[in-house]
Amino acid sequence: MLFSSALIPTVKEAPADATNASHVLLSRAGFIRRVGAGIYDFLPLGYRVLRKVEAIVRDEMDRTGALEILMPALLPAEYFKETGRWDLYGPVLFRLKDRKGGEYNLGPTHEEVVTDIARREIRSWRDLPKTLYQVQVKFRDEPRPRGGLLRGREFLMKDAYSFDADEAGALASYEKMRQAYVRIFDRMGLTYRMVQADSGAIGGSTSAEFQVLVASGEDAIVACDKCDYAANVEVATAKAAEDDNAPAAPAPMAKVHTPGHGDVQDVSKFLGVSSKQMLKTLVYVAGKDIVRAVVRGDHEVNEVRLARALGVDEVFLASEKDVEKVTGAKVGFAGPVGASGRTVIDTTAARVRNGVTGANVTDYHLTGVDMTSLAWDEVADIRMATTGDPCPRCAGGTLASYRGIEAGHIFVLGTKYSHAMGATYIDEKQQIRDLVMGCYGIGVSRLVATTIEQHNDANGMIWPMSVAPYHVHLVTLGRDENLLATARALYSGLQAANVEVLWDDRDERPGVKFKDADLIGIPLRVTIGAKGLAEGRIELKPRTEGDPKKAELLLIADAAARIAGRVKAALATS
Ligand SMILES: [Zn+2]
Repeated sequence: MLFSSALIPTVKEAPADATNASHVLLSRAGFIRRVGAGIYDFLPLGYRVLRKVEAIVRDEMDRTGALEILMPALLPAEYFKETGRWDLYGPVLFRLKDRKGGEYNLGPTHEEVVTDIARREIRSWRDLPKTLYQVQVKFRDEPRPRGGLLRGREFLMKDAYSFDADEAGALASYEKMRQAYVRIFDRMGLTYRMVQADSGAIGGSTSAEFQVLVASGEDAIVACDKCDYAANVEVATAKAAEDDNAPAAPAPMAKVHTPGHGDVQDVSKFLGVSSKQMLKTLVYVAGKDIVRAVVRGDHEVNEVRLARALGVDEVFLASEKDVEKVTGAKVGFAGPVGASGRTVIDTTAARVRNGVTGANVTDYHLTGVDMTSLAWDEVADIRMATTGDPCPRCAGGTLASYRGIEAGHIFVLGTKYSHAMGATYIDEKQQIRDLVMGCYGIGVSRLVATTIEQHNDANGMIWPMSVAPYHVHLVTLGRDENLLATARALYSGLQAANVEVLWDDRDERPGVKFKDADLIGIPLRVTIGAKGLAEGRIELKPRTEGDPKKAELLLIADAAARIAGRVKAALATS
């Protein structure tokens, strides 16, 4: 493709509402344009990437034996009404009426529609197993569409649904999909973790999220550096390192004046003690109770675990007024010592000796608190796992904290939808049984943005070869006929070798061309300039190489073969 005849409207300014790297860069490079809140055009380069992502996803789905179908985006309301999701979905569901007053919605997901296919078309155990999938636009009326393609109101998704005779079959289908997802994210050149769902939850089903590791990600996870353990911080098991609680020499307990120092960091600085010695007390409302939760100063309360320890659904931080009422002191001076009422101590906090905690008196703290010598009614694991904690699964592994973007989700649904909608089959003993389902999603358009969240630098995007809009960005400097003839020969030589080339043939300054090349982020940049040409050489620089001095010089004679080889090698690993 010649740059001069392409549509690549690069701009200097990012959209005013863009904060994420992908939103800024995809807009600036002319890959996407905003049409409305959470609604985007894919311009030619953006659409090429989207189609490549789609092709990888489709390829891996087909490899598992899943069958591609296409369900409508416009759905009669009866489907969601049948399972109760018409009401459950609330304002996220786009609803509309036709000219006769009939109710419809735009599909946010397709469990009902696909289950309807199954109840019509699957009759007997001989028809099983079946996995159906589609690549289809979805609609969700997000309250705050943001991040460009990361959270849109219309987006492209791959959703697959498996139908099996029993739980064991469903697990086998799930495992096939899990492996396909691993291959998809590997081929896309993404660094990710497969995060298991909370196995501790009662009635929890088998499920996993694929989290692409990105500093700007919404989800906080911890993952082991040795095994494949990875979990959401909210559900991760926090295990204390053995040496983590090496006791400081116990000192006698004393009440000290800490005027105005209520914050943990503040107090530890004021008293010259480490945050590991601090005992942080938070006051929560749990059902009808007001409860104290105590963790070490360097830890955070895990509200999911706290709620579970207390046997309630949810806990909420108490209001300032309630804190003062319960502790008799201003916020920041609460503590467990001598407190009446329900108090839950985190396991690691319970091992602190020579600790510092609020005295339940405004402007006072207690020092020399030996938690091990005091009797506590409730000690439980109520803190967030964090960097440096030992791995709960393997020996010797250490957890590190990451942030991630959810790029895929797989789970065994069981018979929830099939039972509600009467999707059954006749087994070998002529018994009627519910189909056992699984469901597997990947946000295809979201993956375009997620890739850039992980692969970018100050100058622009850095596409992995497998999903790059083109493989090679050819830059010619000058309009000399000899130079253009060399470029034309290379251009056609590369195309003959199935290499996709974007040739910047514009009459622009070198600085402008190089800036655009960096912004667009095609993996290999090939430059033909008068100086190199005089020596019979052209320049090759990978986009990942920041130092222009490290560009390779190729002999013109074998340049096409060398470049094509590089492209093939990069594609082979994906
Ligand atoms: Zn581990």
